[in-house]
This record gives sequence, structure tokens and C-alpha cells, in this order.
Amino acid sequence: MGNSGGPEPAGAATPDSDVLVVGGGFAGLYAAKTAAHRGLSVTLVDAQGHQTFQPLLYQVASGLLPVDVVDYPLHEVPGVRAVQGRVSAADLEGRSVTLEDGSALRGDSLILATGASVNFYDVPGAREHALPLYRDTDALAIKARLLDLIAAKAAFDVVVVGAGATGVEVTGALGDVVRTVLPRTYPDFSGESVTIHVVDHASAPLAHMSTASQAYAQRVLEQAGVVFHLGSNVARVDEGSVTLDGGASMRADMVIWAAGVRARPPVMSPAPAAGSDGRVAIDSTLRIPGHPRVFCIGDCAADPAHPLPQLGSVAKQQGIHVGHSLGRMRHGHEPKPFSYRDLGTMAMLRHDRAVVEAGRHHHQIDGVAAYAMWLGLHAALLPDDHDRVEAVHAWIDEATTKRSRFLGA
Ligand SMILES: Cc1cc2nc3c(=O)[nH]c(=O)nc-3n(C[C@H](O)[C@H](O)[C@H](O)COP(=O)(O)OP(=O)(O)OC[C@H]3O[C@@H](n4cnc5c(N)ncnc54)[C@H](O)[C@@H]3O)c2cc1C
Repeated sequence: MGNSGGPEPAGAATPDSDVLVVGGGFAGLYAAKTAAHRGLSVTLVDAQGHQTFQPLLYQVASGLLPVDVVDYPLHEVPGVRAVQGRVSAADLEGRSVTLEDGSALRGDSLILATGASVNFYDVPGAREHALPLYRDTDALAIKARLLDLIAAKAAFDVVVVGAGATGVEVTGALGDVVRTVLPRTYPDFSGESVTIHVVDHASAPLAHMSTASQAYAQRVLEQAGVVFHLGSNVARVDEGSVTLDGGASMRADMVIWAAGVRARPPVMSPAPAAGSDGRVAIDSTLRIPGHPRVFCIGDCAADPAHPLPQLGSVAKQQGIHVGHSLGRMRHGHEPKPFSYRDLGTMAMLRHDRAVVEAGRHHHQIDGVAAYAMWLGLHAALLPDDHDRVEAVHAWIDEATTKRSRFLGA
């Protein structure tokens, strides 16, 4: 089972393995690692061939980190055979999958962990004119658009749709970049020439956090010049403008879509039950009911009795749990029910401000202390030592010079 020299292309020889994992994000990666650690043979198939560390994508989009920091090559996972290819169909009875190139893979146990992707909610023009932030290529597209707007040397407006954690973090980072970093990098650029708008149907940003955290986040971003349009839906997106449901229209030289996600797992047979958000219904042991050797975890699944948020911490814990369950099943034991250890939630607001609700009781911390916690946690969560060092180096460099090495000039 070689794992050096890059992932195998789809269509290569496909011997059976103990465990076949589809999707190498937080859920699939940690399931594969844990199962391999327990002595099981593991094949991990992923459309991209690398894990994308989504929590730091906004820093790639705003030019604060290089893209290689968020991409972890799956062929580097010890003891795991990595295959690059997109799975188009899964046979739950046979525990086999078919890839888009027509090749097939089979495991004694099957783990589906294909995550979720952007949901444009059928808003006219959104798919054509708005930029999502879900993959490394999305982040690079946003950064390229930002650099084009700077090169045009004219005032511009950015509209961020969605004031959840992703929308707030990308807004805060762009605010830092246009007000502080870019004027030092491009001497004839003025941060005052850029307006960042945030639109959300909720009455406050960070709907999943307490009212104190929401008020703090809004205040910090407004002090940085961000304009909120709360209680509003986007009715349509056109080239150069966004129209709200009340009919008001605003200039939009770049639209970033952070308004929500939808699970789009491969076609499965027999088709399992799924929620309106596309998440496959699973039981308390994270298996698809009626299929004792098929697990479905992370953003693409939910236990209807106890739905959990679509978070990296949930996906990672579920992956580790399934890896252990497979070890138990190998010795004739049943998997145990999954129980989520709630570590809290956090959002970065600016280069020196964040908001954290720590632990099961969501104890609120904000300001510089929260910012330090955010940095430490995200550095620790990166799966690769080299990426961790590179990220910390970039953060220290930016904090001391107020410049970014990744924004050109
Ligand atoms: C911008 C952003 C910021 C975030 N910030 C945070 C944060 O700060 N904290 C936090 O806890 N969570 C955060 N999240 C959420 C977190 O990243 C997700 O909950 C987590 O990545 C889900 O893990 P997953 O393994 O289920 O899916 P993913 O990480 O999406 O991985 C799914 C994998 O499956 C592969 N795949 C998909 N379809 C197929 C197919 N048909 N065939 C083969 N492979 C396939 C994809 O290539 C991908 O590698 C953020 C999300 C985003 C988008």
C-alpha cells in the first residue's frame, strides 16, 4: 500500500480494502487516519486529492496567507492509500462506488464524507456574478478579483452576502487589508476608496452566537467602516450591482456569497432519507439506517433526532469516532453512539480582535485575548507541521510590518 509520490489517478488498479472513505475533508481524513492507526487497510478517494482547511480560506481570499497552507495532500496520510477522483454513485448494499471515469472501488465498510457546497438559493444572477468561498480555487478567485480592482485605481464596493462566521471573517479580513495592508503595499491606494457592505436577513451578525457577541462583532466591524444591511434578503445579483428584496440597489464591484451551504452527496442506491438541506439521515452511531457497514459523517449527514451544526469540530470528532467504531467492529463489537464534545465557537473580526464563546457553556471572551485564542487554536488544528509554521510566520510578519507578502506589488 504505497502512499508516496502523489495520489493515484482514478482508474488505477482498485483492490478491495477494509475501509473505503469517500471525501478527504475533516470527517474523512480523521476517519481514515484513525482506522489506519487501528491496523485496517484504508482507501481514501477525494475529488481534489487534498484536504482544504476551510477555516483559513478567508485569509487566502484576502491575501494574508498563501494557498498551500490550507491544502494538505492526502497522499501524505500515513498508511492510507489515496486515490484522486470524483465519485458519482455509491451502492450501499455492495459498499462500492463508481467514479466519474467509470472505475470502481469497494470496501468492507464504506464511509461517505463528501461535505457540502455553496447554496445560491436560486437567487437570480447569484451563480453567475457572486463568488463563493468553499474551495481553495474560490479563495484564489476572490483574491484575483481584489487585485484586479486595485489595479483599476478607482473606488470600489464589495458586498458580502451572509453575516455568519464565514461572512464576518472575510469582511473583517478585507477591511484590514484595504485599510491597513494595501496602502503600505500600493502607495497610491487609499483604503477610504473602498466600501464593504454586509447583507443578511437576520437582525444581527453571527446568528449562532449570544447577543453580547453579536453586538461586539457589529460594533468592531462598523468602527472599521463596514456598512450592515440587516433584516434584508438579496433579491438578485447583476454585474456591478446587488438588489435587495425591498427594491434598493447598491453598487457591487465584487460580491462574495457566504449565505449558506447544501449537501450534495453522490447518487446513492438505495436512496437514503435526507433533509431539505440535502444532509443524509443517519442514526446515533453515524450509520445510514439499514446499512450496518455504511457510515455517513460531517457536513453531508445529520441525525434528525440530534442535528449538529456543520462545523469542522463536529466533522473531525465524527471521523475519529467512526475510525474507533471500525476497530470495535473488527473485534465483533457494536459501534457506540456518537456524542459531541462542544468546544464552543469563535470568529475573527480584525487583525487584533475576535470573539470566542468557549466550552460547553459558551463563556464569552472578546478583544485581544480572543484573538490570541483564535490564532493558537487554528494553528494547532492545521494537520501539517510545515503549514503550521508557515501560517504562524505569516501572521507574525503581518502583525509587525502591516504588510502581506502574498498580495503582490
Ligand atoms: C469559509 C469557511 C470557514 C469555516 N470556518 C470554520 C471554523 O472556523 N470552525 C469550524 O469548526 N468550522 C468552520 N467551517 C466549517 C467546516 O470547514 C466544515 O464543517 C468542515 O470542513 C466539514 O468537513 P467535511 O469533512 O464534512 O467536509 P469538507 O471539509 O467539505 O470535505 C469534503 C471532501 O469531500 C470531497 N468530495 C466532495 N464530493 C466528492 C465526490 N463526489 N467524490 C469524491 N470526493 C468528494 C471534497 O473534495 C472535500 O475534500 C468553515 C467552512 C467554510 C466554508
